[in-house]
Amino acid sequence: MSEPTTSQPASLVSQSRQGNVLVLTVNNPPVNAFSPGVPEGFHAGLDVAEKDSSVAAVVIIGGGRTFIAGADIKTFDMPREQAPDLRGFISRLDHFPKPVVAAIHGAALGGGFEIALACNYRVAAPGAKVGLPEVKLGVLPGAGGTQRLPRLIGVDKALVMMLGGNPIDAAEAARLGIVDELIEGDLLAGAVKFAANHADARPLPRVSERKVENVDPKMLMDIRNNLKNTHKGQLAPGYIVDLAEIASTKSFTDGWAAEARLFMMAKDSPQSRSLRHLFFADRERAKIPGITRETPVGQIKSVGVIGAGTMGGGIAMNFLNVGLPVTIVETQQDALDRGIATIRKNYENTAKKGRITQDDVEKRIALLTPTLRMEDLKDADLIIEAVFENMDVKKDIFGKLDKVAKPGAILASNTSTLDVNEIAAVTKRPESVIGLHFFSPANVMKLLEIVRADKTSETVLATSLDMAKKIGKVGVVVGVCNGFVGNRMLVPYREQAQYMVLHGANPQDVDAAMHALGMPMGPFEMSDMAGLDIGYASRREAAKKAGTAPESDWSDKLVEMGRKGQKTQGGIYDYPDGRKPVPSPVTEKMISDYRAEKGVTPRKFGQEEATKRLAYGLMNEGAKILEEGIALRSSDIDVIYVNGYGFPAYRGGPMQYASEQGLKNVVKDLESYGVTPAPLLKKLAEEGKTFAQYDAERAKANKSI
Ligand code: NAD
Repeated sequence: MSEPTTSQPASLVSQSRQGNVLVLTVNNPPVNAFSPGVPEGFHAGLDVAEKDSSVAAVVIIGGGRTFIAGADIKTFDMPREQAPDLRGFISRLDHFPKPVVAAIHGAALGGGFEIALACNYRVAAPGAKVGLPEVKLGVLPGAGGTQRLPRLIGVDKALVMMLGGNPIDAAEAARLGIVDELIEGDLLAGAVKFAANHADARPLPRVSERKVENVDPKMLMDIRNNLKNTHKGQLAPGYIVDLAEIASTKSFTDGWAAEARLFMMAKDSPQSRSLRHLFFADRERAKIPGITRETPVGQIKSVGVIGAGTMGGGIAMNFLNVGLPVTIVETQQDALDRGIATIRKNYENTAKKGRITQDDVEKRIALLTPTLRMEDLKDADLIIEAVFENMDVKKDIFGKLDKVAKPGAILASNTSTLDVNEIAAVTKRPESVIGLHFFSPANVMKLLEIVRADKTSETVLATSLDMAKKIGKVGVVVGVCNGFVGNRMLVPYREQAQYMVLHGANPQDVDAAMHALGMPMGPFEMSDMAGLDIGYASRREAAKKAGTAPESDWSDKLVEMGRKGQKTQGGIYDYPDGRKPVPSPVTEKMISDYRAEKGVTPRKFGQEEATKRLAYGLMNEGAKILEEGIALRSSDIDVIYVNGYGFPAYRGGPMQYASEQGLKNVVKDLESYGVTPAPLLKKLAEEGKTFAQYDAERAKANKSI
């Protein structure tokens, strides 16, 4: 692309003349966001174009690698008078007396795409993308997008783009009629030529003046009904459908006004605040004390996995998927064969669904080397142990690995509960040891807890974070403690669930309380899926370690009866068709006998109380974890819960959810349930702060883990 010939250094938008065309280039790296200074620059350019009779047309283009990739999300929370006025600029574009052409390369997203839609014409480089991702932040296109896109491509197609939030490529945009011309080669030169050719076009084509045709009311009704499946519990998608309908029935002016109103309602909702919180949380999580741009990052070219069970197989698949060779070790041939067969079966199933080809299946399997010899791991850059959750077995393996692995190899454990420091201590290279806690199914779940042990080196940590990104995981750095962040928070959560059942609730009502929050599964459905025997064994193990008698509860009796969950077709629930939980008369009787035995008079728990007890149970432990420095920030805990435990993103995670309720109220509720609030929670409540404010203050003070 050719560079503009003149520029105004003070402005984020430079002006240049190419014949009778004025080119306005926005230079606001990295993504040319529509932040303060950008509208001023555009208006100055339009002033020139309007006054100068030798200017016949205008081209708007992005400097650097992209068009305007969106509004600046940070400006969402600015006071209205300080926030850049996107709607004002777009209104001016819509009424501008000379043709304006948007020349799109890179991405035109959100507000950037809305600017392009308000131009008279759009041309694009073949690699460009356009889209309206606002729904992902709990808002809607608020600068004319909901009114222009249906006018341009029809309500049905516009709704696909606005509800899905995913961008489309330039070829598709051209096919749909969004882009008027695809320009191979020099985009700016092509756009200027296009503008010159259309300089005399009158009347000027304006998307706002088009009429929407053929809206089938049944289609709208079906889409609305389907929101329960696609966007359960969320506000903004409903508003988007309303606005698309308005685009088809009312004037542009009416739609433009309705859009402004609904945009503000969506933006000021806890849902959008929570989704925006997660957007920033995702960026924050990569900021790790001690890790800088200069920290050396190792190259992972080959991987070893020890244990081909549930986790080992899934872990291996992550690396095979990105073309990395994996050597997988078992102690017995039959276990090895079973593990490999499961990996193959998983790939075959994916191929059957059409997501990969049979050729991909073979290529991935060909990268896998099964072996019974630990020595075969000698060339691996990263070795992940995923054997039984038993400290002695793990220590034995790490002792052997220390002898076999090459210097500099990362030695990782997938343990869910065990002390990574203790594991590291059996090696002569504790700096190379780290916890990589994958979640089940490991080839599917996005979350990866990266457990930084006392002696883990910065390079090992940085390499692990980089590796997580390469295999498409959301890596969150956590410290060593029993259960790390995610699973440790389940302990009080589970206690609350048990407590409510002991005191009168049904398991299904307790689970329903979490469904009401938007969780796909409640605590009991989750225990049944994981296997009740796992918790049973680990509680006994913990009691043994602490030298106390294991605390027994009503669900332990189920394990002793052989009801271990889904895998035995019965646990807390029955599973007559294999997967769908159905309340069990056996469990009900056992619970009522247990209550009688304990002399408990059952009482009712309303859904609101049940939801709060559970969600606050998670959060209260999260606050302890935060204070102990096991998590670096509350937003990391939220990322963990959203990506690993199905906490709905539009609630922001357990910490953000509690902040939204007001921490003072949360403390009051917890105390009324007889739960001691974590000291940090109490302190923040007294200071009238939120967890996000706590994070921000700590980030300023740059405290480390
Ligand atoms: P699993 O029983 O399915 O698999 C363990 C495998 O390790 C078995 O195939 C076994 O033959 C093999 N093995 C045992 N000793 C070995 C040795 N010395 N060398 C090589 N292979 C050996 O167990 P899993 O569910 O895959 O769990 C593995 C680890 O992952 C545990 O530490 C567990 O806590 C952790 N984890 C499990 C889950 C989960 O949901 N299952 C989630 C996260 C982490």
